[in-house]
Amino acid sequence: MADSNADLDAFRAEARTWLEDNFPASLKDKGLAPWGARQEGVHVDDDARAWQASLGAKGWGTPTWPAEYGGGGLTNQQARVLQEEMARIGASNPIPAVAIMGVTMVGPTILDYGTKEQKQRHIPPICRGEIAWCIGYSEPNSGSDLASLSTRAEDKGDYWLINGQKVWTSGANAADWCGALVRTDTSKPKREGISFMMVSMKQSGVTTRPIQLISGSSPFCETFFNDARAEKNDLLGPLNEGWSVGKRLLQHERASQTGGRGSGSGPAPKPIHEIAKTYVGTDEQGRLADLDLRGRIVEQVMAAAAHTLTTRRIAAEAKGNVQVSAAQSIMKNSATIVGQLHAELMIEIMGNQGLGWEGEGFSKSEIDATRAWLGGKAQSIYGGSYEIQNNIISKNILGLPETTQKG
Ligand SMILES: Cc1cc2nc3c(=O)[nH]c(=O)nc-3n(C[C@H](O)[C@H](O)[C@H](O)COP(=O)(O)OP(=O)(O)OC[C@H]3O[C@@H](n4cnc5c(N)ncnc54)[C@H](O)[C@@H]3O)c2cc1C
Repeated sequence: MADSNADLDAFRAEARTWLEDNFPASLKDKGLAPWGARQEGVHVDDDARAWQASLGAKGWGTPTWPAEYGGGGLTNQQARVLQEEMARIGASNPIPAVAIMGVTMVGPTILDYGTKEQKQRHIPPICRGEIAWCIGYSEPNSGSDLASLSTRAEDKGDYWLINGQKVWTSGANAADWCGALVRTDTSKPKREGISFMMVSMKQSGVTTRPIQLISGSSPFCETFFNDARAEKNDLLGPLNEGWSVGKRLLQHERASQTGGRGSGSGPAPKPIHEIAKTYVGTDEQGRLADLDLRGRIVEQVMAAAAHTLTTRRIAAEAKGNVQVSAAQSIMKNSATIVGQLHAELMIEIMGNQGLGWEGEGFSKSEIDATRAWLGGKAQSIYGGSYEIQNNIISKNILGLPETTQKG
């Protein structure tokens, strides 16, 4: 149900008071820096720990998740108010970053498909940011054609025995658990013999090897299962119906990549046209000096605004309760175009300063722009490539005939 304006005002006042009492001033405008990348073992100071603990205990790191499992129990509109209030005081929500794939993907899928016992076991630690998850889908020979995956889980009576290799597993070396697609029946057609297994990463049968990227970081790994074990109650959803569970998780993943599900990630960045003026200069009327660049920046700003407004319209039409669906593919591709165009324009605007990697000749924002440009290339690949989203849109939304790629 939609909240009335008076309800939202009351909630805003409540959120403001709670944030004043709990958000440490030392973390203002620091973004996610105090937490760093979990896998790089960055020191986390006491204030950052205290903030994570109070946010987690309140459930506001996962504001819309059910309160009975440790979430905030807020409506989407209340969550947006909370986000605005956090942005106003320069507060960030570290829980999604700390949980890696726990908040954006696995948690919502457990809420959709898990038994009560599975929800009670897995959801509260995600809400508190105590447990990190990775996703084990892709394999060396199974990316876009994911249904051809060959990692096997054999039924050993009272447990599952898992053997095989995954690749591009983001955060695998830091994760406690992996949401993996595994083959549980080799006699069935390829989509019908797959199950979704929750596999502990903290066992001797699981090893990971980081892969280094052009952006300089190693956010993902090869993951090897050699006689790894999953318990019987680690099967999520029905046996051999993991394809549906897996697709659901991907819809949650895409929803998290559309820019429509922010959760308090700190102050808004400076607008691109303002940045352009500092690098390129202005004419006598105070406009950006380069006419051609001005036109392209306007196009980008309009595309970004159209994307944001469409995301909000979808939320408003759904009265705040957006259902994940194939339509997320449209928004994922739109977010990719807007994001990549922004990154390319930033590099162009900065000129040589936009090609900095390290050193005193470049400011932090210049180095960040270079890395965002390189890192952003992955957006049209992960979560299902740009072309695969187009296939989903043509088949499931436009009703066009099947392509050569099934699924
Ligand atoms: C940063 C990053 C993080 C990732 N994190 C994870 C993770 O945590 N867990 C995980 O399991 N995987 C992860 N992946 C893997 C990702 O899901 C795959 O890379 C992706 O699905 C594409 O598979 P592929 O790399 O094997 O490319 P391929 O499937 O070999 O595709 C190569 C090219 O062919 C195109 N193509 C393929 N089939 C078709 C078709 N039918 N029609 C049109 N074009 C087609 C693709 O669009 C692509 O351009 C990650 C990838 C990246 C880049």
